[in-house]
Amino acid sequence: MKSAFRYFLLVTSVLCMGAASARPVVENIRLSVDKNTTRIVLDLSQTTKYNIFSLQGPDRIAIDLDGSEIGNRLAGMQELPGGVGAVSRIRSSVQPNGNLRVVLDVAGPMRLRSFMAGPTNNYADRLVIDLAPQNAQSTVQRASDVRRKERDLVIAIDPGHGGHDPGAIGRGKTREKDVTLAIGRQLAAQINAEPGMKAILIRDGDHLIDLRERMEKARRQNADLFISIHADAVEDRRASGASVYRLSTNGASNEGARRLAARENSAGYVGGVILAEQEPVVAKVLMDLSQGYALEKSDKLGQEVLDELAKITKVHRNKVQNAAFIVLKSPDIPSILVETAYISNPSEEAKLRNKTHQRKLASAILNGMRDYLRSNPIEETLVAATDRRPPAPVSSVKHVISSGDTLSEIAERYSVSVAAIRSENNLRGNRIRIGQTLKIPVMAGS
Ligand SMILES: [Zn+2]
Repeated sequence: MKSAFRYFLLVTSVLCMGAASARPVVENIRLSVDKNTTRIVLDLSQTTKYNIFSLQGPDRIAIDLDGSEIGNRLAGMQELPGGVGAVSRIRSSVQPNGNLRVVLDVAGPMRLRSFMAGPTNNYADRLVIDLAPQNAQSTVQRASDVRRKERDLVIAIDPGHGGHDPGAIGRGKTREKDVTLAIGRQLAAQINAEPGMKAILIRDGDHLIDLRERMEKARRQNADLFISIHADAVEDRRASGASVYRLSTNGASNEGARRLAARENSAGYVGGVILAEQEPVVAKVLMDLSQGYALEKSDKLGQEVLDELAKITKVHRNKVQNAAFIVLKSPDIPSILVETAYISNPSEEAKLRNKTHQRKLASAILNGMRDYLRSNPIEETLVAATDRRPPAPVSSVKHVISSGDTLSEIAERYSVSVAAIRSENNLRGNRIRIGQTLKIPVMAGS
């Protein structure tokens, strides 16, 4: 960058459409560079409340403007050819709450300063944002650096049984506690490989943890989701397929689910004392559950996981089942229990021992979770921030021909080819007339 003050008009005001709006309108965006500082100016029809913050992976600056809209004249953001200063690209979108979000793709971590400026002779109300690389000598004051850091999403993985409780045992002597640990470890590894996700293994060894302690452990580590892993067993060796359960407070889906819960809950017997059910703390938890929040979320999470499991294995029932599993009783953590297969079925028992199949089961559970998180984002997490779709780039801008305009001059102004303008408007040759409205294709993406 040359040190001379360079000034760029990003999108010139080419349309004059009257109709004053009551909402704040972004009329124009200007960028300029001075030494290592990039200045972005949003010209506004009136001042408005705004919020500006940095996001990482990739680095970008988001500017939320209360109740605002992009003006008719701008009709969209044009991609900057080669970028200006630290800003490589600008996009905009309307947020679900009606605020306008302008996103600047930037070259790296930035220190930022912003202020709302009143009208002058030459300019209207405007929002001024100065960016400077964090690692550079900066003229930007640090007081207004508003970097926001999203937290990791925490997923508790609970391999069922352990220690002197082997869980169900297959005809080939496969123990449930071993396969649940193998699948749990695989799932934890896959989760930890995802940016912004962190797994907690409730049990990472061959020991028994009582059911209430499993919940509490998840809660102490601020888990966002809880996934208990098991393998089912019944007398009938033909029974097969995966199932997903969530807690029921008033009865089980069916008799099989009730018996299963009774069997899984029996791991709560420690030293001859049955835990949980009658304790006051649990009564409190059950009361909270009547709010239904975690149950509803558990149901959605369970269904997404089940749908993904159905892609790689047979499922026993294609809907989430309910039963009174003690381990799922957290009042505010969406919790599910996955019966990965029937260990009592000889062919499924063999698959449960198979490393490739264990990996597939883990991937399916992870994919189900990812699906759930996209429609049920957990605010303040990096995962939610990255899942927010980048706004669709505006595909065309309107340009009204005024006296003296030529196609090649317009093409240059918008950094598109003359051919692209011709093809967008079904033009032959170079003839255009004053007052004619052209659609200017705007380069999207890349
Ligand atoms: Zn089990």
